[in-house]
Amino acid sequence: MNNQLLEQLEQIVGKDSVRLAEPMSRHTTFRVGGPADVLVTPDRSALAQVVALCKKEQTPYCIIGNGSNLLVGDGGIRGVVIETKGALNTLRADGERIVAGAGALLSQAASRAASQGLSGMEFAAGIPGTVGGAVVMNAGAYGGEMKDIIESVTVLDQECREKVLSVEELELGYRSSSILKNGYIVLEAVFHLAAGDAAQIKARMQELAGQRMAKQPLEYPSAGSTFKRPEGYFAGKLIMDAGLRGYQVGGAQVAEKHCGFVINRGGATAADIVKLMEDVKCEVERQFHVTLEPEVKMLGEF
Ligand SMILES: Cc1cc2nc3c(=O)[nH]c(=O)nc-3n(C[C@H](O)[C@H](O)[C@H](O)COP(=O)(O)OP(=O)(O)OC[C@H]3O[C@@H](n4cnc5c(N)ncnc54)[C@H](O)[C@@H]3O)c2cc1C
Repeated sequence: MNNQLLEQLEQIVGKDSVRLAEPMSRHTTFRVGGPADVLVTPDRSALAQVVALCKKEQTPYCIIGNGSNLLVGDGGIRGVVIETKGALNTLRADGERIVAGAGALLSQAASRAASQGLSGMEFAAGIPGTVGGAVVMNAGAYGGEMKDIIESVTVLDQECREKVLSVEELELGYRSSSILKNGYIVLEAVFHLAAGDAAQIKARMQELAGQRMAKQPLEYPSAGSTFKRPEGYFAGKLIMDAGLRGYQVGGAQVAEKHCGFVINRGGATAADIVKLMEDVKCEVERQFHVTLEPEVKMLGEF
């Protein structure tokens, strides 16, 4: 990374918001990943300037939220990692709407909705991502998905212009959106919810949190469901039926509590996780002729 670029980044985001050789294991819920050359945490206006600078200098950049759906390679990430969590975490209620910055945690947005007596975000309260990451992934759980509650999303387009997209324009599908395809960056989302009873909304959130605690290996680092749900099947059940419960490669393991999760039992490397995912994919294919596709996003050098 050249010094001139670093100085310019520091001018844009401030010295304290620029970290060099930053271990990505600190920024992913898997607790895995080598160093990013540079990691910055810009606010909304600085973010556009950082992207414009990277484009001008032909320096690669990528965007992360809470790192809860990411597997970062042991070789780390070349170029600039832009983290939204931190400086882009605005949150406000406006009638039946919650307006949230991309870096706000989904759990915080859901909790604000509950306090305002707004129903619709109950399903999202236990998803450990940011609003930006959840929009991009069309995160969902317990019969709900982001698509059901998004009214509009403000993005930064490839020319670094802000653009407001309607829910239709986001083309939200199963863990997919037009944002990833077009290389947009989510800046803010507006959720349109329905008036409800605050106590009931909170009770439903607690009930779902209890279900998560009972079924998911939340005591270990992971990135949630490792594979997408194949049409007509459940990835976790296929993996369990293949006899892979507890299967381990180095520090990575198919969780005993829920075979859909790969967990870091301690000291796992990205290479361990990749090898384990490949083994699982091969075995499920061999036994059931079903192809598992990763849900986790791979970033950096493996
Ligand atoms: C214990 C556990 C349980 C989980 N349960 C669920 C669940 O029930 N349902 C579910 O859907 N997921 C679940 N997940 C996965 C994960 O929390 C979601 O996919 C979440 O939406 C990812 O958000 P993030 O901010 O962590 O995104 P990251 O992991 O940081 O990024 C994910 C992708 O989004 C991109 N991205 C992030 N922010 C932006 C932005 N502002 N603009 C453009 N691109 C961006 C990244 O480049 C990357 O491609 C779970 C994960 C864990 C660890």
